[in-house]
Amino acid sequence: MVLVINCGSSSLKFSLFEEEELRLGGLLECIGEQAPELVLSRGDEEERRSVVAGDHGEAMQRVYEVLVEVYGGVGVVEAIGHRIVHGGERFFEAELVTAEVEQGIEECAALAPLHNMAHLSGIRAARTYFADLSQVVVFDTAFHQTIPERAYLYALPYNLYEEEGIRRYGFHGTSHKYVSQRAAELLQLEHFTGITCHLGNGSSLAAISQGRSVDTTMGLTPLEGVVMGTRSGDVDPAVVFHLVRQCGMAVDEVEQLLNQKSGLLGLSGRSKDMRNIEQAAIEGDKRAQLALEVFTYRVRKYIGAFLAVLGRIDAVVFTGGIGENSSAVRRRILQDMEGLGLQLDSARNDTHAGVEGEISTPGSSVKILVVPTNEELVIARETRQVIQAYGERS
Ligand code: ADP
Repeated sequence: MVLVINCGSSSLKFSLFEEEELRLGGLLECIGEQAPELVLSRGDEEERRSVVAGDHGEAMQRVYEVLVEVYGGVGVVEAIGHRIVHGGERFFEAELVTAEVEQGIEECAALAPLHNMAHLSGIRAARTYFADLSQVVVFDTAFHQTIPERAYLYALPYNLYEEEGIRRYGFHGTSHKYVSQRAAELLQLEHFTGITCHLGNGSSLAAISQGRSVDTTMGLTPLEGVVMGTRSGDVDPAVVFHLVRQCGMAVDEVEQLLNQKSGLLGLSGRSKDMRNIEQAAIEGDKRAQLALEVFTYRVRKYIGAFLAVLGRIDAVVFTGGIGENSSAVRRRILQDMEGLGLQLDSARNDTHAGVEGEISTPGSSVKILVVPTNEELVIARETRQVIQAYGERS
């Protein structure tokens, strides 16, 4: 089985996969805080436990203990795959963990300090508790390393790119890569050219040409682009100056406002969760209706932009909790786009909730697809592939 580890700044999520099946999952939150809690899930069963987890090392020890408890030891685990948020310009594919790779992740930490240092703690702790196992790192940014300069450079003084690495990196790469490859299979194309829309709590779109990412909506950090659950997405950078000068906010407060208090939550004043927003909008809540409108408009605007970037596309693919499940959001995004070759089939759209398949009319020149993503599963698969390739080479 492959153990997938996703270390956040104060959390550790783990998923144990036997081939494609999730056998055991867990989320340990509030690491280093007052009352860390571990939520374990096996099939439909869920169990909550209060645990001791002062740091990621102790959190990994709890994972080890759970495996011993359930399987009598950790021998069932063949390899470990870690999700890494930022691979900078150093990583363009998943890699086996070596001292050099760890050093590389540390070097990229300036770009995502909280995340990358947490990932490193996870890798090191895994070495303590799963001594002999191979570890693989899978990067959120890797798939977007094919984006050309004209799309990744911000029009800032060039030395900021050279010296500070300030540029667009893009995220959700594992998901964009998986759904675009799956779309190619479904449409029987050798390589996919189109737009992938990952709409979840965090959301981003990618423009993909012949299987390679050529642009994406997220930037230096996952804050840029479309509207998200609590993140603003694009704003005029001058909003920051206004908040600091006119409203007297500290930089940390502005950062928190843009990351945690904006998006669907900020606009609606009610919830970050699209299900609640949709329900409130149906019940007539004006701000929820507005949040829904701003959200779908921004996605639509980027589809138009990426259509222009690519010139021609095979398909638009929807994924992520919202993209997979909400037929209403997809309908709003794609309304009146027939002139651009996108014709949504309402009946197909309505029956596709969390199910893979085509939702465009048979005559639509551009296909519209729903492809459920599962980043943990994709990390497990990539981990297996890297281990296999490494075994074949050595
Ligand atoms: P994350 O980015 O944390 O992985 P997900 O991809 O699971 O998140 O997406 C979470 C979002 O998906 C939430 O806004 C949630 O409301 C939304 N969502 C899940 N199911 C539905 C549904 N049936 N209809 C509308 N939105 C949904």
